[in-house]
Amino acid sequence: DTVRNDRPEDLAWQADKNHFIHPYTDFTTFEREGSQVISEASGVTVTDTDGRTYIDAIAGLWCINLGHGRTEIADAMGKQASRLAYFNTFGHSTNVPASLLAAKLAERAPGPLNHVFYSTGGSTANDTAVRLIHYYFNRLGKHAKKKIISRNDGYHGSTYFASALTGIHGVHLGFDRISQDIVHHVSAANLYRRPQGMDEAQFCDFLVDELQQRIHQLGAENVAAFIAEPVMGAGGVLVAPAGYHRRVAQICRENEILYIADEVVTGFGRLGHWFASEDRFGHVPDVIVSAKGISSGYCPLGATLFSDAIHDVIAVPQAPGGLLSHGFTYSGHPVSCAAALATIDIIERDNVLGHVREVGPYLQARLKELMRHEVVGDVRGDHLMAGIELVRDRAGRVNFAPELGAAHKVFTAARKRGVIVRPVGNVIVLSPPLVLGKADIDRIVDTLHEALAEVS
Ligand code: PLP
Repeated sequence: DTVRNDRPEDLAWQADKNHFIHPYTDFTTFEREGSQVISEASGVTVTDTDGRTYIDAIAGLWCINLGHGRTEIADAMGKQASRLAYFNTFGHSTNVPASLLAAKLAERAPGPLNHVFYSTGGSTANDTAVRLIHYYFNRLGKHAKKKIISRNDGYHGSTYFASALTGIHGVHLGFDRISQDIVHHVSAANLYRRPQGMDEAQFCDFLVDELQQRIHQLGAENVAAFIAEPVMGAGGVLVAPAGYHRRVAQICRENEILYIADEVVTGFGRLGHWFASEDRFGHVPDVIVSAKGISSGYCPLGATLFSDAIHDVIAVPQAPGGLLSHGFTYSGHPVSCAAALATIDIIERDNVLGHVREVGPYLQARLKELMRHEVVGDVRGDHLMAGIELVRDRAGRVNFAPELGAAHKVFTAARKRGVIVRPVGNVIVLSPPLVLGKADIDRIVDTLHEALAEVS
């Protein structure tokens, strides 16, 4: 009864409800009231067809890093689409934006990561990482090296293999899990939920020991790679204990296990650097997976960056005249690559990385104030990634039952006040556009205070 036939926004919503299968959605509760049809956006705000404007504190979905309505990016895409919208890059054909972008990515990635395979997003970029790593070990004659160690609560995407890498329990409910012989999960580096009585350093030892034992159990000769997000995102914004990534990388090296850093969220400035692995966590992975912020979300793009050592093996065909038989129609799509080149130009021209290093700590510091609400058990994050975990019992770190939708209530209360955050389980996630200012941060935090007070 809230849907009217004479309102275009209602007709759009109805068409959507009838025909559009949304990602990650409960269709039984999908009603006009509480839904939004986002129709325009500018800077750090989005506007819906009902004329309401919100601060987008999640950058679309961890991706509109340079903010909405950037005509420079749109113009670069438009120009490229008019000049050459598409031609394939299979074989020895290429295009200018894809080539220039590959060089720019190599320059900005850690030392030996000089070779990029393009895809269409984070899931396909992760699939590419694993498929080519398997190929690499085959080429070395190490045919048994196939297993991948991932982590509980890690999120790596929704293609069939990327979903197998994903370690979030709820994501698998009702679905089949393929590749269980290949993918093995170890504990999440969840400091808040670490075993009782352990300090941060002991927890790090615990995680490192667990990994070592798992490698031993599986046999290092059977393990191809370890995959991890530098800071877990969709799993609840989990920052690993100090030194964790460096120590894990060392163990991987000792066992000839390749380290895949899934920087789909952490890359392109969210943690104040082009990539977080080296500059933030002090290690150089063998493979970096990038998407989302790489094109500031203006066009779908994934990039898997490989080290010289891997490239030098996979670049040689199995037999004379053979091919590296992997690729997507849209690998190196000129319009997506033009969006990425414009993104890189703006990040450099406007010193966006420096800006994130300034406002990131401010966001984290202000969010800590939310601990004054009894329902907040933990506030954590790094620069412009943050998670606020809600608990029913703070001392016991007991979560609310999922059916209570505690984080969803905070989301609704915040949205009513003009700020969009993201509820993920019992965690409220923030990943705002990198270009937000301190006044925007104040507005977000003040709104969360009010929203938490309302639901407490
Ligand atoms: N990896 C990480 C760390 C992600 O957060 C995501 C998406 O949120 C993905 C991979 C999957 O990316 P996409 O949805 O572009 O396939």
